[in-house]
Amino acid sequence: MAEWTFPKGDLMAGKRGLVMGVANQNSIAWGISQQLAAQGAEMAFTYQGEALERRVRPLIESIGMDTMISADVTNDEEMDAAFATLKEKWGKIDFLVHAIAFAGKDELQGSMVANTTREGFRRAMDISVFSFIDACRRASEMMPDGGSIINMTYLGSERVIPSYNVMGVAKAGLEASTRYAARDLGTQGIRVNAISAGPMRTLALMGIKGSKSLMSTGREWSLLKEDTTMEGVAGAALYLLSPIGQSITGEVLHVDAGFHVVGVPEPSEEG
Ligand code: NAP
Repeated sequence: MAEWTFPKGDLMAGKRGLVMGVANQNSIAWGISQQLAAQGAEMAFTYQGEALERRVRPLIESIGMDTMISADVTNDEEMDAAFATLKEKWGKIDFLVHAIAFAGKDELQGSMVANTTREGFRRAMDISVFSFIDACRRASEMMPDGGSIINMTYLGSERVIPSYNVMGVAKAGLEASTRYAARDLGTQGIRVNAISAGPMRTLALMGIKGSKSLMSTGREWSLLKEDTTMEGVAGAALYLLSPIGQSITGEVLHVDAGFHVVGVPEPSEEG
């Protein structure tokens, strides 16, 4: 398992929340969960399918959690049941982490124009964007005392990234949804933000053609000349989800070693 170290403390003491999107030990949602647990949060986790349950249960037990709820985000009945279970368990929650996205392999390569089918577009939008809007509605109904919600996005929403294709279109929708949800839920004291992470070695990244080059370019062009770290992403999540992130809402926070501000790479030796 990757060796990450997360600062301990009590920034999330007494806070309960739902984490959607832990698939394995490399998942971004898993890094975030470990950081939140190290700061005293209590969490429930959704998963999709029995194989995932078997894989994820030992992880969450290792941080002292035990609540896993089945939820394929494309299935309304499962989502109804998942949130009913959560409501029965805790009554209310303080935070939500949405770290879910999907597009077909055929769509994550070559030409966006040629390879995006109606069904592929619908599926990518449904799983990667609508699921966030839906989860915001359901979670906010369980946040009578206010709360904080985050999702995970990527620079492919703002710039053209080879192979990212329909997922870039979906992430643009996700970021716009973040702003509208922040507006709708603001008066309830619920903050809604997105983290735009640089490339990280997860199952989702491996589904994109040319993912190795995304990683190496991310490192070489970045201002810090390093990969985006799980500690950095999880720290940003802690910041946005905890009281120290108060007053921040509707924001897309880039955690990518500065890659997003670079226009062109540094010139070679020859100039
Ligand atoms: P990951 O470990 O593969 O997580 C993706 C999660 O989405 C998995 O738990 C997956 O479950 C879930 N998912 C897909 N379809 C679902 C459905 N219908 N119902 C419920 N869950 C579903 O990869 P990750 O990189 O950590 O991705 C988490 C988030 O970070 C995504 O939004 C991704 O776009 C974003 N992100 C990733 C990077 C990166 O470089 N890795 C960078 C920026 C943003 P299954 O395995 O069961 O499908």
